[in-house]
Amino acid sequence: MGAVVTSAALDRARSAITAHTRRVDDFPVPGVCFKDLTPVLADPEGLDAVIAAMAEMCVGADYIAGIDARGFLLGGAIARELGIGVLAVRKGGKLPPPVISVDYQLEYGSARLEMPASGIALNGRRVAVVDDVLATGGTLRAAADLLTVAGARVCGMAVIMELVGLGGRERLAAGLGETIVVHTLCAG
Ligand code: AMP
Repeated sequence: MGAVVTSAALDRARSAITAHTRRVDDFPVPGVCFKDLTPVLADPEGLDAVIAAMAEMCVGADYIAGIDARGFLLGGAIARELGIGVLAVRKGGKLPPPVISVDYQLEYGSARLEMPASGIALNGRRVAVVDDVLATGGTLRAAADLLTVAGARVCGMAVIMELVGLGGRERLAAGLGETIVVHTLCAG
């Protein structure tokens, strides 16, 4: 994975993100500015531009893994665009047993991600992980760890917005290695 995104796709996506992102101060806890990107995806031009640009970022993957819940909105559309399958990385407590799980820290609080322990043979398949926002990197790291336990080879990551200054990109590089490219459409 690691295709260069054409400037046309990036420009369209960035315009839509600038126009439609809703910023909510002090949510969900004081001091955090929540970036609500769902209005970007509710806009037809925004959805088309974001999916086109993120699909370019994920070329070469065998599967797209979307992280619960906003990553699901992206994952299915990107996978459809690339003609590949989509995987759901679920929040804890949603799936029937047996599951595999990873616990991790959020920018605010802690959480668990889960996948079915069986059903989809991922042995060595290349999986690109997608989500809306990269903050501290804990969620993407946990998803990558979970997919690795499931037998997949994480080949890259793509998010709409990277919150710079929270160390997420550095934490991912330290934990997963520099070879896994983290693609972002914009900084927030
Ligand atoms: P992190 O694990 O800290 O990188 O957090 C990333 C995950 O939490 C993503 O699934 C985001 O949807 C969500 N998230 C964390 N911080 C924010 C924020 N400031 N605005 C919007 N979503 C966020």
